[in-house]
Amino acid sequence: MMESWPVAPLPSIRNPEPDLAFAAALDQLARPMPTIAFLGLGAIGAPMAQHLPAHGFDLVVWNRTRERADRVAKSVRARVARTPAEAARAADVAITCLPTSREVEGLLDGEDGLLAGLRRGSVLVDCTSGDPGTSRRIAARLRENGISFVDAPVSGGKRGAEEGTLTVMCGGEPAVIERVRPVLAAFGKNIIHCGDVGAGDMVKAVNQALLAIHIWATGEGLATLAKAGVDTHVALDVINASSGRSNTSMNLFPERVLSRAFPRTFRLALLDKDLRIAADMARDGGVPAPLTQLASELFRAARAELGEEADHVEAVRVIERTAGVEIGT
Ligand code: NDP
Repeated sequence: MMESWPVAPLPSIRNPEPDLAFAAALDQLARPMPTIAFLGLGAIGAPMAQHLPAHGFDLVVWNRTRERADRVAKSVRARVARTPAEAARAADVAITCLPTSREVEGLLDGEDGLLAGLRRGSVLVDCTSGDPGTSRRIAARLRENGISFVDAPVSGGKRGAEEGTLTVMCGGEPAVIERVRPVLAAFGKNIIHCGDVGAGDMVKAVNQALLAIHIWATGEGLATLAKAGVDTHVALDVINASSGRSNTSMNLFPERVLSRAFPRTFRLALLDKDLRIAADMARDGGVPAPLTQLASELFRAARAELGEEADHVEAVRVIERTAGVEIGT
């Protein structure tokens, strides 16, 4: 069974028990570094993985498109695996960060798949913003093989991943989450146990629905003001000092919409996927959720119009096009 990895303090002249501390430090040095396999080095996966070596982990990376894995291995101390199985074989903990749970499930089987490599007692941590049903199915399959599973989607965006300040919302057994906490702490500031397997996915989906609703509502409001001739910079300043403000109005709109920068950090296609998860959850749970359902329809249509590579905030362009106005000009 895998143990947790205590970090021993180095002896210092201020330490009242230098011999004990020194012995603990020596013990720490004698342990092999835990090996982490990271699979899926996209917009958020790559900056997450890049923190691991600096936090004392041995890193093995795999990515479907090999060049991305080579790029990460060039930037930090990491080895590149040729297959998911090869990455998993070396790992105490394997982390996946793929578009949807479907791709994660698709990585399990075959001679190159994760199940061919993962050892009994290891843990698969899925940082994909996944769907709870598929996560439960994956967890059950792993359990048959003596492997634990944690769904651990993240929030905080590309910047949070680069700064190592992500929020990580975990679903799984408390003891397993405690075991992997030092690994998650390499890229996460808030690591929160949300409940059983699937709970992390569910909290993430609701967060994403709120994000989408904020984007659309802020876009509608500012387009209306722009069309009426109100300076949207002034309007946004007022809103951000008032009760209508949100992260969307305070950060996303000034940095991305009013500036017309629209950087591509999180694909609209992925937010559409998140909204479907949230809408399905509400429907399956018998909860009336007209706002979530409508947001899901609006973002699905925006994805169809703007394509697979558009950023999530670019959904505002659809409002601008139909209103015949540009916010921020
Ligand atoms: P990207 O689209 O940037 O990257 C997707 C990654 O998945 C790439 O490494 C891609 O490989 C790989 N991939 C796609 N399809 C397959 C497949 N069939 N088999 C194996 N690998 C595959 O996505 P992000 O990094 O932005 O997002 C990853 C997850 O994190 C998503 O669930 C997203 O919702 C979530 N997320 C993203 C945030 C962000 O700001 N970007 C913020 C919070 C959560 P290849 O290089 O070959 O294309």
